[in-house]
Amino acid sequence: MKTRSPASRFLKQALDSDRATRLPGRVNDVGLSEKNKIKKIILSILLVGIVNNATAAERTASICYGNTEKGRIENAWQLPTNGSNFSAYSRFEVALGRNYVHSAIYAVVLDAYKDIQQNAPQKKYVYGDTGWKSGGSFRPHKTHQNGLSVDFFVPVVDKTGKSVPLPTAPFNKFGYTIEFTSDGRYQNYKIDFDAMAKHLAALKKAADQHGVKIWRVIFDNDLQKLLFQSSKGKELQAQLTFSKKKPWIRHDEHYHVDFIVPCKDDR
Ligand SMILES: [Zn+2]
Repeated sequence: MKTRSPASRFLKQALDSDRATRLPGRVNDVGLSEKNKIKKIILSILLVGIVNNATAAERTASICYGNTEKGRIENAWQLPTNGSNFSAYSRFEVALGRNYVHSAIYAVVLDAYKDIQQNAPQKKYVYGDTGWKSGGSFRPHKTHQNGLSVDFFVPVVDKTGKSVPLPTAPFNKFGYTIEFTSDGRYQNYKIDFDAMAKHLAALKKAADQHGVKIWRVIFDNDLQKLLFQSSKGKELQAQLTFSKKKPWIRHDEHYHVDFIVPCKDDR
């Protein structure tokens, strides 16, 4: 459902009233009407700008404390449940509030999806756990404590080769208990390494644009090799730091990304 901002309501009113001034039979000085119309449109544009800025300013930037393993966050932002090419892993987990991030990471994550939407609109993505509104201990994860960690589920294609969201549901712990083979298969699904590489490249680009750094990407070591063989794989390997050691849990169904934003000391 669309809600109108005060500015767009004003714009609509201005245009409606402009339409009214053109009703047949109404006595009107055409010159004056044109001037008024221009005035109203300029005012509307200015107002839209002011209101949009106000909306952005109303949302206070986040402040992170400590690090991903021991930290917290103030004014974290909740990621949208879905967009044109992405969705959260679970509405239930979203309702619990497990998808909050630092405001800078919010911008990076959404800009990356927007970027892919322009270049490869058919690709579908699913994100997973990020963190609590105030950060802190986030079981079963060891990290995800200060709004700078995001889990992304691997993009997959179905047996017809179509990009589809990974089926995350309560029976597979919202995706986390899905096991991929070492060649990237699970039931009728195959990891779409090209789509994954596109996503990581878009995250890197968006992070650069927002002055955010990507610390590391944790992903299964065997599957990493297949990722590096994809079209953007070589570039990615040079641009990002991937986990070398075997992670504490197998990261085959999702890749974990840690971002770097300057944080205050945890008190
Ligand atoms: Zn994680």
